[in-house]
Amino acid sequence: MPRPIEALIHQAALAHNLARARALAPDAQVWAVVKANAYGHGIENVFEAFRAADGFALLDLDEAQRLRQLGWRGPILLLEGCFEARDLELCSRLKLWHAVHCEQQIDWLAMHKTHEPHRVFLKMNSGMNRLGFMPQAFRAAWTRLNALPQVDEISLMTHFSDADAKRFGQDGIAHQVAAFQAATADLPGERSLSNSAATLRYNQRSEVRADWVRAGIMSYGGVPDFPEHDQGHWDLKPGMTLRSEIIGIQQLQPGDTVGYGSGFTADRAMRIGTVACGYADGYPRHCPTGTPVLVEGQRTRTIGRVSMDMLAVDLSELPQAALGSEVTLWGQGPKGQVLPIDEVARAAGTIGYELMCAITRRVPVTVE
Ligand code: PLP
Repeated sequence: MPRPIEALIHQAALAHNLARARALAPDAQVWAVVKANAYGHGIENVFEAFRAADGFALLDLDEAQRLRQLGWRGPILLLEGCFEARDLELCSRLKLWHAVHCEQQIDWLAMHKTHEPHRVFLKMNSGMNRLGFMPQAFRAAWTRLNALPQVDEISLMTHFSDADAKRFGQDGIAHQVAAFQAATADLPGERSLSNSAATLRYNQRSEVRADWVRAGIMSYGGVPDFPEHDQGHWDLKPGMTLRSEIIGIQQLQPGDTVGYGSGFTADRAMRIGTVACGYADGYPRHCPTGTPVLVEGQRTRTIGRVSMDMLAVDLSELPQAALGSEVTLWGQGPKGQVLPIDEVARAAGTIGYELMCAITRRVPVTVE
């Protein structure tokens, strides 16, 4: 008997979420963002569900190559461009579009001998201060690229730091949109600004939707850091379920403790279950007592510290729970109940992105 834990990848949900991005930005093209091995879901596991995308956006050449091997002939965008000059060779061979965010990447292009001219996405640092040309340096970079025979098309992109902020102005993205627009007003080329948060929140603004939206977390059914709304509000469905089973049951008396460091002390008689899932599977060790979990689809809470291979859940109100009962750590319960990954992430003081990406190799994956 294998250890009873698995990650289920829900293709119908993934396809639904991608369709949501398209519906929110009907006049734009949609990148399915599949970096970090499709946010931990596995590129091969999401490919069919995201086939309706206009393109795939990612970071690693290895992942781009896997997409080509799966038969994808459409656009693939390297969101951070090349990491060294010789990457351009593979870009040519695989017909990859790539971001250009610094002078060094332009130098590499200028020296590159290519038969196939490149399509590049010139990236502006409009306020995130991570990658990209400052607005005042943007035109010069564009002019340099435009003069290169190695380049046949230049698109323009930027990335938001605060698209999950509640307001467009002040602490939101208004200043970044304004900086981008001012510096690109008379430049030709397609534009891409929006990540999931901007696509969800600011889809009514055509200058934010622009020509391409980059749908990452929403495609997997996660909601960006919007504390006030869950997946249901945005009509997104969990693309991944992490599920396990009860493998042990203990009866506690008042004063009994649970787990390492005696992290929980019972104040009354309790029944608890031990679940075959721990931090070595990718479940966050930071989840405190009280983190939500579903047992046979019913909500209950974790108890005590998460160990490497196990965690404990409160079964006091669930008399029907027994050895072998199904436990949903996040995602879809057995009868369609939903425990949003974002809720578990919040309990752990992090975001759903991190949980998705952290599922470890020992967890078997089933695609349905
Ligand atoms: N575009 C770029 C440049 C990114 O780095 C990311 C992810 O961090 C995305 C788009 C997708 O973001 P999200 O998953 O929030 O939609």
